[in-house]
Amino acid sequence: MKNAYVNRVYDNLEKKYSHEVEFLQAVHEFFEAIEPVIDEHPEYEKDAILERLVEPDRIISFRVPWVDDEGQVQINTAYRVQFSSLNGPYKGGIRFHPSVNQSIMKFLGFEQTFKNSLTGLPIGGAKGGSDFDPKNKSEHEIMRFVQSFTTELSKYIGADEDVPAGDIGVGGREIGYMIGQYKRINGPEAGVFTGKPVPAGGSLGRTEATGHGLIYFLRNMVEEVGETLEGKKVMISGSGNVAYYAARKVTELGGIVVTMSDSNSAVYDPEGLDLDTIQALKVDDRERIARYTEEHPDVTHIEGSVWDADIDADIALPCATQNEIDGDQAQRLVDNGVKIVAEGANMPNNSDAVKVYRENGVHYAPGKASNAGGVAVSALEMSQNSIRLQWTAERVEEELETIMNDIFQNCVEAAARYGRELDYAAGADIASFENIVTLMQIHGA
Ligand code: GLU
Repeated sequence: MKNAYVNRVYDNLEKKYSHEVEFLQAVHEFFEAIEPVIDEHPEYEKDAILERLVEPDRIISFRVPWVDDEGQVQINTAYRVQFSSLNGPYKGGIRFHPSVNQSIMKFLGFEQTFKNSLTGLPIGGAKGGSDFDPKNKSEHEIMRFVQSFTTELSKYIGADEDVPAGDIGVGGREIGYMIGQYKRINGPEAGVFTGKPVPAGGSLGRTEATGHGLIYFLRNMVEEVGETLEGKKVMISGSGNVAYYAARKVTELGGIVVTMSDSNSAVYDPEGLDLDTIQALKVDDRERIARYTEEHPDVTHIEGSVWDADIDADIALPCATQNEIDGDQAQRLVDNGVKIVAEGANMPNNSDAVKVYRENGVHYAPGKASNAGGVAVSALEMSQNSIRLQWTAERVEEELETIMNDIFQNCVEAAARYGRELDYAAGADIASFENIVTLMQIHGA
């Protein structure tokens, strides 16, 4: 980065939060992309636009005590980072995973702020979570943990204040327990969470939204180079909701899903995976993906990361977690023929990987644009809750498709304005930065 103002703000941030590596990584990538905008607007320095951008409105951190099935008291740490309400009520998911810490929450809240502004819907940015590991916990342990977590969280959220949803480790079941506990404390108000099970006020199409939205975005990328998804070999990592519904949509549009994975291993079939088996194992039963080989003994089982395997593919869709692909793994993708990478997860490619894509002409879409379909349908769920109506699945899907097409167009146009044609990462950062700066200027310092 060459701009003195950009460098100064980043250096100060690095000094202040040197241990928050994921947060610094997200800010650094963002600053690199928006540098040309700062060059054009030296007056932003006086308004401290960048300093305001990187400091969340507030961080709430709390202890979650709960009792396991053996009667042992357990303690976890939880966070809600309310990053920015410039664009509306705080909005963003809740993650339950042992890796959760303040840096990861801040990076996700930062990304969410820009992602949410790209949807064109009135939602601010937030993220929350806990280092609680839902793996190998009984249904009752999960319920007790969620109830204790929500008891404290409920003090800080509200339908017009802060509206959490799911993320890694948090799905409809957990959101169901959250809304149950919230109602017990504050009375009946469904609109305070999204991603609710449909009978509890959830939106049709929300579960599928991130995965489907990713493929609508991908379809635009593929068409931009004059091609279609027909016959394209697609590597997907992960096997949760994002990965699974992306895989279904790819298949529906004629693509071939050759890999899926979980945190232990992956399965590879050059002819295309059987998604009914994946659904039965991962979506319905929360089983390990390795068990796929029981029904399909001829499939290749890959221990460890799917990105360490040499697989012939056209497209890669990382849908598992942050920094799952490093520079070497990105180079392997390039060597094996991958031309397009679109992120279903948040920041699954590290900075080295993104550099490799740039240097090799790989078209790369960042999660804040390509996975925005989930939070977009969350915002539609908020709308439905406030008018106390439920839209049809078709209507939600149509709106989702339009939103993803619009995000794509906005990214393309913003990138082109700064001479960064086909650089969707720059486009997403520039377009969302412009949105947030406009709001800062409207609201005053
Ligand atoms: N966790 C999702 C995301 O990263 C969805 C957030 C929401 O629906 O509020 O965007």
